[in-house]
Formats: sequence, structure tokens, C-alpha cells
Amino acid sequence: MSERLTIAIQKSGRLSKESLALLQACGVKFSIHQARLLAHSTSHPIDLLRVRDDDIPGLVMDGVVDVGLVGENVLEEVRLEREATSQRADYIDLRALDFGQCRLSLALPKEQSQLSLADLAGKRIATTYPFLLQRFLKTQQIDAQAVMLTGSVEVAPRAGLADAICDLVSTGATLEANGLVETQVIFRSRAKLIQRKQPLSPARQQLLQQLLPRLDGVQQAKE
Ligand code: ATP
Ligand code: ZN
Repeated sequence: MSERLTIAIQKSGRLSKESLALLQACGVKFSIHQARLLAHSTSHPIDLLRVRDDDIPGLVMDGVVDVGLVGENVLEEVRLEREATSQRADYIDLRALDFGQCRLSLALPKEQSQLSLADLAGKRIATTYPFLLQRFLKTQQIDAQAVMLTGSVEVAPRAGLADAICDLVSTGATLEANGLVETQVIFRSRAKLIQRKQPLSPARQQLLQQLLPRLDGVQQAKE
């Protein structure tokens, strides 16, 4: 069996640069070839798997990789989806990281921004996070319909596909540009380091145990 620790990170996107920078700051050296899925560390028995962020929670939960760095928004959405479909959905929460901060919010067209949460009853809400949205709606006892869109969520109301949206917000500039107003935060997120629940070989667990204090040191130094 391979004694290399496998770490999944986002291939290209908002988490990629900081995920790689964090590992490098921990002393783990890589030379990345943009086109390659797998990168071998030149300093440690560690392999990096570079994939879409949406695939990271499932890879960890299925035990295909040992650890992963992913946003809590994606992690929790995948966990709820897998739970609902009787797939394995457990993992070990190792660390909350100090990047990838964003929030998942409800937003309404400007003309309707005075509507209350209760007014969403019977309305359609476009989102890429149907499970997080449904959970929120359930706790608020609002009977609204989640409309799943994997992209261009913010144009859904103008296109007549939905009455409201539930999407990630960082500055609000995208909402503003689409005539939408943020009315309610439903989930706050940051990047997390997670480990598979299936036990690692002693060598891999030991390597991970050596990396964690370094990671804590790097994060503290940034504060
Ligand atoms: P992929 O191609 O990997 O599926 P994506 O388009 O789904 O990428 P990105 O836009 O790169 O995803 O965002 C990845 C994650 O970064 C989000 O799921 C979220 O956790 C986090 N994120 C979102 N917005 C911001 C932001 N403004 N600043 C920092 N992190 C963010
Ligand atoms: Zn994604």
C-alpha cells in the first residue's frame, strides 16, 4: 500500500492559491503542472489531487483521498445531499482555516426588497445550494420552492426563472449589478481542512500529525 498522504485541493478557483500557499508555508514543496491532476511533493511523501471543489467532500467521505481543503458551504451541501441519498457522509473536522470567507444569502429584486421572509411562501428561489436552502426554509417554516441552477443564479429573477435567489456573496457587487438586494444571510462559510473517517495507515497518520502543528503555527503567524 502507498505510504503517501493524499490531499485534495481545488484545481483552479477562489481557494486554489491559498490552499497551495498554506501547504507550502507548512514546508511541503510542490511543483505544479497546470494541466495535471496529480502533483507529487518533492519534500514529503504527499500527493496533491487537484479537482473541482464540489468533488472534494465526496472524495474524502468515500476515503478516496486522505484529507481535503474545501469551503464549508460546499462541504455542508454535499453532506446533506449524501445523507438524503443514503451515501456515506461522515468525515473528521480537522481545522477551520483563515481564508475562503463568504456567506450564502437570500437576495430579492430591488423592487421587492421590502418583502419579509414569510412573503417567500409559494415563491421560487434559484440556487446552487438546494439542500442548505431547504434546511433554512424548513427551520423558518417557509414553504418555498428551490430551483437548482449550477451557474448564472443571479440572472434567474430577470429571466423569469425565479422570484428570488440564494447565492454566495462576498462584496455584493454581483448582486448590485443584477438589480438584487441581499435580505438574509443563511450560512456563513470559510475553508476547512477535513480528514476521511476511514483510518489512515500509521505512517500517513503520523505525517498528518506532524503537519497540523505547522499549520497552526502558520495560521497564528498571520493573525
Ligand atoms: P470549481 O470549478 O472548482 O467548481 P467554483 O466556480 O465552484 O469552482 P469558486 O468561485 O472558485 O468555485 O469558489 C470556490 C469556493 O471559494 C466557494 O465554494 C466558497 O467556499 C469560496 N468563496 C466564494 N466566494 C469567495 C470569496 N469572495 N472570497 C473567498 N472565498 C470565496
Ligand atoms: Zn464548484
